[in-house]
Amino acid sequence: MTKFELLKKYYGYESFRQGQEVMIDAANKGRDVLGIMPTGGGKSICYQIPALMKPGITLVISPLIALMKDQVDGLNDNGIPSTYINSTLSLTESRQRYERIRNKEYKMIYVAPERLLTESFMNLVRSLAIDFIAVDEAHCISQWGHDFRPSYRDIPVFINQLDLRPTVGAYTATATSFVVEEIKKLLELHNPLELLTGFNRENLIYQVVKPKDKYKYTKEYLAGKSQSSGIIYCSTRKTVESLTSKLKGAGYLVEGYHGGMDPDIRSDVQENFMYGDIKIIVATNAFGMGIDKPDVRFVLHYNMPKNMESYYQEAGRAGRDGDESDCILLYSPADIVKQKLLISQNNQDEERLRIQFENLQYLVNYCHADSCLRQEISSYFGEDIGMDNCGSCGNCLGESSYIDMTKEAQIIMSLIYRTGQRFGLSIIIQTLRGSKNQKIQSWNLNQQSTYGMLKDYSEGALREIMMNLIARGYLHMTTDRFPVLKLTAASKAILKGEENIKVKQERVKVTDHKNRSKRKTSHSHLDYDEKLYEQLAAKRYQIAKENRKAAYLIFSNATLEELAFHKPLTRDGMLDIKGIGDHKYELYGQLFMDVIKDYLDQE
Ligand code: ADP
Ligand code: ZN
Repeated sequence: MTKFELLKKYYGYESFRQGQEVMIDAANKGRDVLGIMPTGGGKSICYQIPALMKPGITLVISPLIALMKDQVDGLNDNGIPSTYINSTLSLTESRQRYERIRNKEYKMIYVAPERLLTESFMNLVRSLAIDFIAVDEAHCISQWGHDFRPSYRDIPVFINQLDLRPTVGAYTATATSFVVEEIKKLLELHNPLELLTGFNRENLIYQVVKPKDKYKYTKEYLAGKSQSSGIIYCSTRKTVESLTSKLKGAGYLVEGYHGGMDPDIRSDVQENFMYGDIKIIVATNAFGMGIDKPDVRFVLHYNMPKNMESYYQEAGRAGRDGDESDCILLYSPADIVKQKLLISQNNQDEERLRIQFENLQYLVNYCHADSCLRQEISSYFGEDIGMDNCGSCGNCLGESSYIDMTKEAQIIMSLIYRTGQRFGLSIIIQTLRGSKNQKIQSWNLNQQSTYGMLKDYSEGALREIMMNLIARGYLHMTTDRFPVLKLTAASKAILKGEENIKVKQERVKVTDHKNRSKRKTSHSHLDYDEKLYEQLAAKRYQIAKENRKAAYLIFSNATLEELAFHKPLTRDGMLDIKGIGDHKYELYGQLFMDVIKDYLDQE
């Protein structure tokens, strides 16, 4: 069968996504591949289809033990015989699986990295024809990545012990060039086809919001979202707990999740979220790895994460089904201070500290960017999406006009310069606003010629202007515990009047960002029958409960929407629906056709 036929038969999809074909072709030809695609971008198909096309067995090495069962259930449901080997199996179960693997009953075997070098696994593997090894979450091999997993270093050792070297595919969502180089080197990939693609998630509406009162903003935001699933990320356990209880008190159905909770309760919360009982989770970044619920409609960051990479990962848990979803970052200057403290508390070597501060600064700059947020994110990852105005991010949605701020910038810069570049943001602001504060007097800052010169601007507006200058490299804020402002090489041109500074109007006028998406979050382009959809969803929920499976593994929402639109009553009609392949049809086709038939009879 061709790759197109396989895609249709096993997955029920009509066409490949960007990058998938290239990666499949390379692996099929026996060339190593390194696929860098964001979470939700569709990496699995890039190694599952070659696995189906190759004569032998494919090993998938994955760190996500908690998720292996789901992944393998999903494959078997699609009619692809697969199994997994990890520490959750009892000895008897392991033995049985080994037996069946020896009998060549499976096309794909998922395995935890810790297993690779064990004697029993090595023995097993020596008796098999393995022609492809897919390394999922390949960045786990790098110490510099965010989820270093020491046993990933066993992978090349393992591969070198095989008689014939299989084709190796590595897949990750981490794109920092340093980590990518590490993956290639440490995994010993042979001239891999390297593909970086898909970082622009078109269905995600990125926004940075600067509310006066974060709690109030959140509460109001949630009021319009009662039917949607979402995640609210906080930076500390304490914030998770207090926000959860406040929201509960206000009548919202939310649950908290953080690393300090009892593990049983924690996994209950996670399971309930996945299965659809709990809609909204308030969590630290401990909530994440392996959350691949497809219909998360919003990810709201109550606090700023530690860098762009984390932000992208966390925000990227929204909208995996391709429907429009919000990614909102609530910004407050206090969060930067908090993150800096967190970074400097981990006493590490200078070089690492410097990298972490730089990574944080990139995200701070993102919060103060005037340009397209989508472009800002993609270019961080090294992808040029070639648009200046996407029309669908917080910055491109609002029609803003720019105003000239060259004079103001000059005043700010000259004050910083004349006072010896040793004051922080708030002292400079107070001086510019002509504050009568004791400190200002005692440092003689009221003697400065620029004292009070910008008193017409609110404190928030001045902060905005200065942060914008920092984001654009016209000012530098040191990264120590008590950051001070300094001039940069770029400041000169402004001071000399050789260059102008333009700033978005609303930055200067309001501190409360009103530039929110006004677009309705539409879940589908189809005008489907909502009543029928509900009945189909109820059926799916029932099947999920009975089989102890996540609902989305049965059918995705998009598939249900199509069913509720086309209302097929025949096998062919069912197979025309996106997401229904032959095997899924065998498993569930009749059950859902019955629902449609009953529904139509009642009408
Ligand atoms: P990743 O592993 O990159 O995070 P997945 O492989 O889990 O992403 O894919 C994310 C979702 O996209 C899944 O629901 C998958 O079925 C779907 N998907 C992948 N490829 C396609 C395609 N060509 N057409 C439609 N949906 C796809
Ligand atoms: Zn944009």
